[in-house]
Amino acid sequence: MSLTLDKLTVRYGDVTALHQVSLALKPGEMFFLLGPSGCGKSTLLRTVAGFIEDYEGGLALEGGSLKGVPAHRRDFGMVFQNYALFPHLTVLGNVAFGLEARAVAAAEIRTRVAEALGLVGLSGYETRRPGELSGGQQQRVALARALVIRPRVLLLDEPLSNLDAKLRWDMRSEIKRIHAATKLTTLYVTHDQKEALSMADRMAILKDGKLEALGAPRELYDHPPNRFCAQFLGDCNVLEGAVAAPATGSAPGRVRTALGEIALPGEKHWPAGLQVGKAEVFCRPESVWLGAAGSEPPAGAVVLTGQAKVASAAFLGASTLYELALPHQNAAIWHALRHEQDAAGFAEGAEVTVAVAPPAWRLWQ
Ligand code: ADP
Ligand code: MG
Repeated sequence: MSLTLDKLTVRYGDVTALHQVSLALKPGEMFFLLGPSGCGKSTLLRTVAGFIEDYEGGLALEGGSLKGVPAHRRDFGMVFQNYALFPHLTVLGNVAFGLEARAVAAAEIRTRVAEALGLVGLSGYETRRPGELSGGQQQRVALARALVIRPRVLLLDEPLSNLDAKLRWDMRSEIKRIHAATKLTTLYVTHDQKEALSMADRMAILKDGKLEALGAPRELYDHPPNRFCAQFLGDCNVLEGAVAAPATGSAPGRVRTALGEIALPGEKHWPAGLQVGKAEVFCRPESVWLGAAGSEPPAGAVVLTGQAKVASAAFLGASTLYELALPHQNAAIWHALRHEQDAAGFAEGAEVTVAVAPPAWRLWQ
């Protein structure tokens, strides 16, 4: 089912929690809404669900307006961060609840509850109460409860944030599997960029109630439209600079920074409308090349001028994260992420050559 939000605005008194947010979810899509705490994610989800009726703008399912349709008539499945299970009911009672409320026949309730519990991997747990389940199992019950009504849209509000890291990872693939099996249009809200990047078909970034970006995970990570989105999606090294000459056609543009001039290829790497003058360039830590002082970088990579030192090296298992002290004070601390198997890498205090390939740079004004 397609779900569209057209200039949705929600206010709580003087606070504008959502400001003219427009989105169009495609049928069967796993769509993520990502943003920091307080940016309006739950407000958006609760409005879609029908719990907030006082809004401006349009909300439609398959082109039909949802205005005035009460929450229980929307047939949307919803999962909350804190599960919101009924503690006094068994797993069976919790999952059957929505069907009983809809006066579904007892025999069908049994079949559908069994089906939903099978889907979330909880067959055999029917008689337990929420207090006798782990956090992950409780979240599965909440998912089964949302799925059992065969919802037209599935709404998930930070469903994994109460779980520990390992379980969160397992549940991610579990939710992806369930999505593949049900093909439900899903709106998934989270503040965790890894969850969004690893699971989304498409995603939107929300800041202070406004939509900042919309796109596929790789597209947004590689080409964020602004600094906020770049930094929210991952670590980045930012350099202040100035556009000396914009790119024209296939000719690279030139940006001056305190660490040397960078020639940036045109097309995708050079946003339209950039003018001569102040700008910022950034690159991701995984695109920074490190070598012993004086060593040759790979062909095409541009060496940053001046001597850099390893300020700290953090061994992360699969990779090592280096903090680099660059010679120019405005460059502050840079990060480089390297995958080193067996190798010793660089010690703290080592002098290093730092280079970045031009296509890895991004630029905005
Ligand atoms: P998120 O889910 O992204 O953390 P919310 O949608 O819960 O954000 O909140 C968005 C903004 O609206 C915040 O500033 C929050 O304090 C405010 N807010 C949320 N719910 C209410 C409410 N019931 N009354 C007043 N302000 C609210
Ligand atoms: Mg919230």
